[in-house]
Amino acid sequence: MVTPLDPTYEEARKIWNGQITHRPALIARCTGTANVIEAVRFARQHEMPTAVRCGGHAVAGHALCDSGLVIDLSPMTGVRVDPVVVTARAQGGCLGVHLDRETQALGLAVTGGVVSHTGIGGLTLGGGIGHLMRKLGLAIDNLVSCDVVTADGELLVASEEENTDLFWGLRGGGGNFGIVTSFEYRLHPLGPEVLAGLLVYPMEDAPAVLRHFRDYMAEAPDEVGVMANLRLAPPLPAIPENLHGRPIVALVVCYAGPVEEGERILRPLREFGNPAADGVTPTLYATHQQMLDAAFPHGRHYYWKSLKLPPLSDQAIATILAHAWAITSPNSSIPIFTQGGAVARVPNEKTAFPNRHATHDINIMAAWDPSDPESERHINWVRGLWGALEPHGVDAYVNFLSDEPQSELPMVYGQEKYRRLQTLKRTYDPTNSFRFNPNIPPG
Ligand SMILES: Cc1cc2nc3c(=O)[nH]c(=O)nc-3n(C[C@H](O)[C@H](O)[C@H](O)COP(=O)(O)OP(=O)(O)OC[C@H]3O[C@@H](n4cnc5c(N)ncnc54)[C@H](O)[C@@H]3O)c2cc1C
Repeated sequence: MVTPLDPTYEEARKIWNGQITHRPALIARCTGTANVIEAVRFARQHEMPTAVRCGGHAVAGHALCDSGLVIDLSPMTGVRVDPVVVTARAQGGCLGVHLDRETQALGLAVTGGVVSHTGIGGLTLGGGIGHLMRKLGLAIDNLVSCDVVTADGELLVASEEENTDLFWGLRGGGGNFGIVTSFEYRLHPLGPEVLAGLLVYPMEDAPAVLRHFRDYMAEAPDEVGVMANLRLAPPLPAIPENLHGRPIVALVVCYAGPVEEGERILRPLREFGNPAADGVTPTLYATHQQMLDAAFPHGRHYYWKSLKLPPLSDQAIATILAHAWAITSPNSSIPIFTQGGAVARVPNEKTAFPNRHATHDINIMAAWDPSDPESERHINWVRGLWGALEPHGVDAYVNFLSDEPQSELPMVYGQEKYRRLQTLKRTYDPTNSFRFNPNIPPG
């Protein structure tokens, strides 16, 4: 237990978004399921608000609460890969890097996020999108089972065979139903070397590049993962010096198959236009997973909004670009993920994750230094693009929500799924103990 009197308290209450400064009364740094059970029962007995922390990356700061108990899973980073049944069991406090490291040691992988210091806990429970999703599905599509500590401190297993209703809700419903102390994933052979890297273009080329990205991805095989990213070019050796600080569009490419095959399949993408840099090259998958880590450091101030979109219309592209030119911080960015492939083939009703048929997830991410006095300007830039894109959008990805009012969640999930999630909440957490999340109140 860490209390405000402990010298480690200030460090223990820091999360990724430096804007969030909640001060919990206690932080329970759990080393195993027994600690988690004990912490849940303690919170219940003392009627303490309870937040759950894995990687601490929820931009809204859900991993912390004021004056309550934080059940901090971050010491729980064990991963065991079973090479015979080809699964991994990862403790509920793992980051992406922990899971990638152990699975890639055996040439295996599962879909994870594109920044390796993100927690697998929040990421998986909200769905889990990443470079491999078109080939392997979402992180949740590879879940075999979860060990779950419920609000009354009981340990359950949720899988396709046991507590199947809970298993449905855990796959997209976030941390509403309990604390997952271990995730069991199905693994797949990958690499360790994949054809991956960045294609970089000046923003002047972006209208043509984004249209080609859209058209290419509409026909691309599942192995192709491409995320477009608009921002000011950071001063990295991989980017020509004349572009540093200038608006660019980068395509973050990953081919989840044999490298030689990738060379052939990716050729039409790489030969289009005049990329200022083509860094697509055989790379260790684990290295590619860490490529963006430094661009999203802990402690900066962050504000996001997101939308899922159908295939980008020319008008949507024009809207995105108008706002990309007006970006307000060298650290802000607009990543555009591409769904489709295996994500879209899983029947919508199979998991709580909504709208599998969207083509893109766009995240409008403002990031600025804590000393920067212009927070409002950065936040308004996000809201401006988000508002302008809303007519083109379908709904939002639950893991990219920030300060949306709770009343928007039924729209994010759709009424039918939302009602089913509420029923589950009444069964597993009727007093809404787990409420620091995109919350589904019991009703
Ligand atoms: C830099 C960055 C990059 C990202 N990239 C991606 C990406 O590529 N793909 C993607 O899908 N998402 C991505 N995300 C979004 C990410 O999925 C969410 O921010 C997610 O909430 C992070 O999970 P976490 O465990 O780190 O966060 P936390 O803040 O620790 O937790 C988030 C929520 O999940 C709950 N929770 C966490 N662990 C557990 C658990 N074991 N049991 C029960 N509840 C739990 C928490 O209570 C909280 O409500 C990214 C986020 C960041 C900041």
